[in-house]
Amino acid sequence: MSKPEPLFNRLALIGAGLIGSSIARAARAQGAARTIVATARSPKTRRRVAELGLADQVVESNAAAVEGADLVIVSIPVGECGTVAKEIGAHLAAGAVVSDVGSVKGAIVRDMAPYLPKKVHFIPAHPVAGTEYSGPDAGFAELFVNRWCILTPPVDADAKMVEKLAAFWRLLGANVELMAPDHHDLVLAITSHLPHLIAYTIVGTADELQAVTRSEVLKFSAGGFRDFTRIAASDPTMWRDVFLANKDAVLEMLGRFNEDVSALTKAIRKGDGDALFEHFERTRAIRKGIVDIGQDSPTPDFGRPHPDLPHEPLPKPYASEKN
Ligand code: NAP
Repeated sequence: MSKPEPLFNRLALIGAGLIGSSIARAARAQGAARTIVATARSPKTRRRVAELGLADQVVESNAAAVEGADLVIVSIPVGECGTVAKEIGAHLAAGAVVSDVGSVKGAIVRDMAPYLPKKVHFIPAHPVAGTEYSGPDAGFAELFVNRWCILTPPVDADAKMVEKLAAFWRLLGANVELMAPDHHDLVLAITSHLPHLIAYTIVGTADELQAVTRSEVLKFSAGGFRDFTRIAASDPTMWRDVFLANKDAVLEMLGRFNEDVSALTKAIRKGDGDALFEHFERTRAIRKGIVDIGQDSPTPDFGRPHPDLPHEPLPKPYASEKN
């Protein structure tokens, strides 16, 4: 069967790290754009993008990338978005859709919108998909499959253009939902930003312990700690920017979290097993709900492979004399 006409003629990708390079790979695989042009801040990353053949053209500046593009996606740290909007504003083509992938939306609108001309359609987006790796080698075409992409169009956005961008993300395998930027920031504060803050905290706390050695922390990490370390290995630049940009929503959720930690602390101190049991039963149901709607695999222990049983014979004192 022949592929449908590409949705966009020229896709400009500013930033080609985990997210930008995954968009490039998926858009190429799905024929979502006729031509893909990419750029990144450093010559090193641009060279790598060219070596990997992620785009039809790799250019040296953000302004050059957007010339003639009908879809521009900015996939860079949140704190850089205002500066980049200023750089590209005057070079955008009339009627172009300008979007981003930032994990925070209110700050992106605040920082980018003032520099974008009226003749373009600014439709911010956030694909809720990622890994703890960064850079152009970390991306893969399937990253967005069955993940949500949240679009936060302004209230007066052109509905046809919003639908066109939604169609682009659906072609990359994502499910699309529309939200107001503030609501997005509140939802993501609890589902993503606070879990990252907790992981960064626990891993840091363990690292500072005196009574338990670092090698013990690493050795016995399968007790739960290692699952936090994956999240705590996420990109420091990205996450610094997320917490600075979503300060109010994160502080709101952190306040609630602290109240709940106090309640559990009290239950442990008072030996209130019923309170602990009830709480853990409720949280187990949430995990089941996530698996039930296909947002994670039901395989135990996140599907980690378990090595075979040992084949070495037991040493003499334990081995049966008959064998
Ligand atoms: P990344 O792998 O670190 O890549 C960032 C890219 O942005 C690099 O190619 C970098 O180029 C480029 N860049 C930085 N500043 C630039 C500038 N001023 N002009 C042009 N290019 C610039 O980061 P990522 O994980 O793809 O994250 C990018 C965005 O996606 C962030 O806003 C993040 O909030 C959002 N996001 C991330 C995830 C995730 O799990 N990682 C998930 C959803 C959304 P150099 O390499 O040359 O510096």
